Amino acid sequence: MDFLESRVNFLTDEINHHNYKYYVLDEPTVPDSEYDKLFHELKNIELEHPSYARPDSPTQRVGGQVKDGFKEVKHNTPMLSLNNSFPHSVDNDLKKLTDDENEIFCCEPKLDGLACSLVYVNGILTNAATRGDGEVGEDILANVKTIKNVPLKLYNTVPEILEVRGEIVMPKAKFEAYNEKQRELGKPALKNPRNGAAGSVRQLDPAVTASRPLAFYAYGIVKSGDGASINKSHYEGLRYLHSLRFEISSFVRQVKGPKQVKEYIDAIEKRRDAIPYEIDGVVVKIDSVDRQEELGYVMRAPNWAFSYKYPATEELTTLEAVDYQVGRTGAICPVARLRPVDIGGVTVSNATLHNEGEIRRLGLMIGDQVSVRRAQEVIPQVCSVNLSARPDDAQPIIFPTTCPACNSPLEKPEDEAVWRCTGGLICDAQRIEGLIHFVSRKAMNIGGVGEKLVAALFDKRLIETFADLFTLAPQDLMPLDGMALKSAEKTIKSISDAKVTTLPRFLFALGIRGVGEGSSRDLANHFKTLDAIMNATHDELVEAPDIGPITASSIRAFFSNEGNTQVVQRLLDAGVTWEPITEITDSGIKGQSFVVTGSFSIVPRKDIEAAIRNAGGNVLGSVSAKTHVLIVGEKAGSKLEKARKLVNAGIPILIFNEKDGIDFLSSNAVEI
Ligand SMILES: [Zn+2]
Repeated sequence: MDFLESRVNFLTDEINHHNYKYYVLDEPTVPDSEYDKLFHELKNIELEHPSYARPDSPTQRVGGQVKDGFKEVKHNTPMLSLNNSFPHSVDNDLKKLTDDENEIFCCEPKLDGLACSLVYVNGILTNAATRGDGEVGEDILANVKTIKNVPLKLYNTVPEILEVRGEIVMPKAKFEAYNEKQRELGKPALKNPRNGAAGSVRQLDPAVTASRPLAFYAYGIVKSGDGASINKSHYEGLRYLHSLRFEISSFVRQVKGPKQVKEYIDAIEKRRDAIPYEIDGVVVKIDSVDRQEELGYVMRAPNWAFSYKYPATEELTTLEAVDYQVGRTGAICPVARLRPVDIGGVTVSNATLHNEGEIRRLGLMIGDQVSVRRAQEVIPQVCSVNLSARPDDAQPIIFPTTCPACNSPLEKPEDEAVWRCTGGLICDAQRIEGLIHFVSRKAMNIGGVGEKLVAALFDKRLIETFADLFTLAPQDLMPLDGMALKSAEKTIKSISDAKVTTLPRFLFALGIRGVGEGSSRDLANHFKTLDAIMNATHDELVEAPDIGPITASSIRAFFSNEGNTQVVQRLLDAGVTWEPITEITDSGIKGQSFVVTGSFSIVPRKDIEAAIRNAGGNVLGSVSAKTHVLIVGEKAGSKLEKARKLVNAGIPILIFNEKDGIDFLSSNAVEI
């Protein structure tokens, strides 16, 4: 056996093992970048030496094995993978698609979740399956039905059988919030949003899936049984799906020519942080369905599309040491000091380890090879450890017993995951962190006042509580390093400007333990006023959405402390203020455009229109291609005719009579 052949054997076994861990057990062992490297090496050797390829080579498969416990489902049309494109090959890959500068492409972000096929029979969701190996997937219907934005029934006339493909994802913000809660409870966190989505969908108990914040984004229609295409272009197909109330990525664009494709790729990469779900690249497709058919398929991959890969967000490196930081609530946070590693163009040398339990759960030792994930806008984190690469001289991690800042003993209630400093007000680290939190962007958002300035002001005892910030004068700031009169005045003005805020921001800024951004919003919406929250009993607090008994106790404890209520009063006296809270209803028709026409017998037309506006919909006077829904009463005239013409021309407008229109609005949580 020569070297290449034994290398093929090694790679085949290695990748199959990673596949099993990843797809079946949802326990990734190596970062994607590492996996991709192995996969490409194997694929290249097999291309050169086809006789070495083993029958169980992972390159023959598109995905993972069906896990025991889920029924197998054979896909009517195989779920294929796209060819990958990279920065060095994108020009060539575009050229392979077309030479035509006027070719229309449809570009969309490539969501990083779990690919899924939904089959609707007579408009009812009847089957849902994972990709599996592309030919056979897992039946996940019961679990998919729990995903809030998957339509269980389609309004509108649809083919007898309609297969919709898309990606199940866990939106980034919800993933972070979910993990934060898990860690607070000392429970295992999800490794990354993609894993969160895959693991949640593969729960044997659909109730567990239902408790996870998942979303489905549709990205394609499979041609109906008779081979007739529903749509003339991919983009039109997506618009059609949108009209059926599927969620479509709002970043999908039709562009003209290879140059605009590359501009799109760059633009999305720049906005990657702002996209609410994890993406790992961009999908580029020839838009015209006729052209797609001309180009056809090669080696089980469409010849009219590719996926462009962005740099990885996870890499391997070495854990060199662990330091401990004191948070604003006294929480001791272990921080991993790493051998610097480039993750998607950013050098990462520190990552959070969250708490002692997380270190134990990972089974981490100093010297270990770890996988580090850099999610956008979030502190990098160690998400797994490669135990098989542990060096002989790996050292255990010894968690401290006293506060690294004030030396007070640490304590940890049995049912919590976090050790805390018992120093309270004598612990300067806690007080400085509290002040830094107060001024931070998501709290009071005081521009120009950062960590350094807060620490310097605290050092000079110019600020000891939040309220002291609002009594500062430019002269107080000037003795500090590098502060000229002009910048001191500017800083004071920005502190003063921040007095006009919102109740949720104010609550969040106070730094009450357990009250994050989300719970601050919930509290504000539920109680409406600060007084009501300060005076709420434990039982009343628990009635607010998402406030549990632990958080309720911590809110009670905070406002029962006279020092805290004095600071709150001083802040209000200093002029901190906000607009009163008004009710926000979250309906399913937000941003959709409606036309209501004709005479109505069940509900007066103006009441229907008012209900639509109150729920965030737009009511327009005339029908156009931008109309989403037309509701017609008796004697509807030219508007109905025009809408029918547009529908015949392929513009997806939903048309309802009065009764169906009211049903439709009610089913979208619009109150009439
Ligand atoms: Zn301390």
